[in-house]
Amino acid sequence: MKQKRFLIIAGGFLLLFLVFIPSVHADSGQTYEVGTDSLNVRSAPAHSAEVIGQLNDGDRLVVFDKAFGWVQTYYYGQVAWVASDYLFAVNGVTSVNQKEITVTADEVRLRTGPGTQHNILGYASSGDTYTMVKTSNKWNKIILNDGSVAWIASWLTDTSGSNHPAESSENNNHATKQSGGSLAGYNIVLDPGHGGKDPGAIGIGGTFEKGIIMDTADNVAKQLRDAGATVILTRKDDYFIPLEERVRISNAYNTHAFISLHYNAYPSLAINGVSTYFHSGGDDRVLASEIQSAIAQKVPLKDRGVMQKGYHVLRENNDLSVLIELGFITNPYDLDTVRTAEYHNNVAEGVVEGLKNYFNE
Ligand SMILES: [Zn+2]
Repeated sequence: MKQKRFLIIAGGFLLLFLVFIPSVHADSGQTYEVGTDSLNVRSAPAHSAEVIGQLNDGDRLVVFDKAFGWVQTYYYGQVAWVASDYLFAVNGVTSVNQKEITVTADEVRLRTGPGTQHNILGYASSGDTYTMVKTSNKWNKIILNDGSVAWIASWLTDTSGSNHPAESSENNNHATKQSGGSLAGYNIVLDPGHGGKDPGAIGIGGTFEKGIIMDTADNVAKQLRDAGATVILTRKDDYFIPLEERVRISNAYNTHAFISLHYNAYPSLAINGVSTYFHSGGDDRVLASEIQSAIAQKVPLKDRGVMQKGYHVLRENNDLSVLIELGFITNPYDLDTVRTAEYHNNVAEGVVEGLKNYFNE
């Protein structure tokens, strides 16, 4: 089945680069853009496989299959695999969401990639304006005057389109909130806790955490996709997956946010409510707050707030990451509530809204 599809596609298309992609491949697979130079193209999904070519920053490819940490594309007509670490999903972002940004500080570094580990290309000054073509985990990709691209920290820029943000921030913020409602271009790793031999918490009547979680995760995944996000699930069914593997999946993709979903248990039946955990503070804490408050507004369970804890999937994660405890299955009221479709729906709405508020602020 798979082989056949490969042959048909391989015969049809010889090149994978930008100019050929938009019309021809539109329905065949997701388009990704390379975010680094000298990215190896290999004959198989392994670092030991033969290198058959290289891609550079800004090159695009279409993905036809995924194995954890690798994507399958075509390179000059040949089946090829590329590590997914430096790939950014392209969902028409460059044409639809172009906006003007204004630099709000002096001597702001322009870099080759989205993060302080990337090389410095030059500097921008307060009041400089650029066209932003993409945003990735608090970094903006901008077009310089010579047509080349660079990345700039989003917290040192203003996207309201005004050089006087203080005077008009209220109106502009409203406009931004309403029009910036999409999660297109964001890669979200959803991590339904436990599974298989690990039932997670066991609640009243022998209810397993791992089962309720899957219903919740399916709903959250659907609503995230409806909002335009690319969703990667660490597990799709009732099977065991180690914590290390969950983190590896998050770190292997260009993940904009990792969200682990759980239900809680406690020896005392009286303990109840929803809480969101972060590990490292900073951005993680901000996202945890956005998600917690969005969910708390939509569900009838007690709001236990955000908390810091060194969960493995947060502690070892290189990406923005939070863990949500969606209620106590040892509390009769919580358990009755969290088993309903309405609850899963409300949680999903809360997660989507929290992410939108975080990324589009
Ligand atoms: Zn759990």
